[in-house]
Amino acid sequence: MENLTESRMTKREFLRFFGTSFCALSAAHLFGLPNALQAQIVKKGLIKTKLSPYFTSLEGGAIQCELCPRRCRVSKGKRGFCRVRENRDGNYYSLVYGNPCAIHLDPIEKKPLFHVLPSTTSFSLATAGCNFQCKFCQNWEISQASPEDVYNYDVSPELIIKKAKEMGAHSVAYTYVEPTIFYEYMADICSLGKKAGLLNVTHSNGFINQTPLRDLCKVMDAANIDLKGFTEAFYQELCGGELNPVLETLKTLKREKVHLEITNLIIPTKNDEMSVIKEMCLWIKKELGADTPIHFSRFYPLYKLKTLPPTPISTLEKARAVALSAGLEYVYIGNIPGHEGEHTFCQKCKKMIIQRTGYMVGEINVKGGKCKYCGKPIPGIWA
Ligand code: SF4
Repeated sequence: MENLTESRMTKREFLRFFGTSFCALSAAHLFGLPNALQAQIVKKGLIKTKLSPYFTSLEGGAIQCELCPRRCRVSKGKRGFCRVRENRDGNYYSLVYGNPCAIHLDPIEKKPLFHVLPSTTSFSLATAGCNFQCKFCQNWEISQASPEDVYNYDVSPELIIKKAKEMGAHSVAYTYVEPTIFYEYMADICSLGKKAGLLNVTHSNGFINQTPLRDLCKVMDAANIDLKGFTEAFYQELCGGELNPVLETLKTLKREKVHLEITNLIIPTKNDEMSVIKEMCLWIKKELGADTPIHFSRFYPLYKLKTLPPTPISTLEKARAVALSAGLEYVYIGNIPGHEGEHTFCQKCKKMIIQRTGYMVGEINVKGGKCKYCGKPIPGIWA
């Protein structure tokens, strides 16, 4: 999952830098509003709700949420696992519609999406809540929070699009926590964004049911999906989730022609077995295609995995070599600025076609979606 702050910032540094109301600070800066107006849009607690289109009614006023594979059964007055959906008199409501708690203008390289309009900015947002409980979550302060625990902004989809355009963003990104949990808000912004000529992009854990996913594919342009590991045991023990629905999401995104990239965060002793990484790469090649970009990302100790060391660079390099030898064509290393694995190389002429250092982009030698040197088509969205 994409970090809200610099990837290598520790929790202590994070809190010292931002304080407890980091979101309020970022929004105030972003919107450039006078103090009196800020007070009107920055609020603690619930602001508004929206009826979910994805639930079925059960006996006695209970409901079953149909949004993600958890399929929570929720009795009257209670909330689902993700903390942001509530059964009110037999109807199921999103509690975070129009109420993001994090808004940032990010380089699209931070998503990471390396094959989508390089060197542009993405207007990025999240609400509280998540449908996973990853022990290594970089954004646990908001992902493991209820809407009442954080500062939220009263920002309509229309205002999101207006501000994104004003600030020169080329895309809106649904990110930081699992965007499925604020699906209704995301879907409405997506529709408006399309009409306004903005791309819609997401960084997601892929844990979503097929019906809402296929509906979302009509308005989503690009997705980076976390493939956090390649065993059910990893998903159960480290994330409180399941692998198989994530694999189904990847196949659907491919089928629906949403530009797809994958992130695999390599955690020492947890998912760094090269034989499993090889198995994962072969699955990606067979099911999604050899030209699916994959990002092997460096883990830094935080949240509930503080006792583990950062991923050795040699481990990431071994994973990259395994992926390339399995036949994957665009294999990146993340969270190590300056590493050769950040650049894009043409698979035909082998020349460097996009140069990167961290989130900074240097030369871009992709013209009209093709390598400038040899004309090989490069997968992605380039204009
Ligand atoms: S979206 Fe939330 S409430 Fe719905 S099934 Fe998933 S975790 Fe449960």
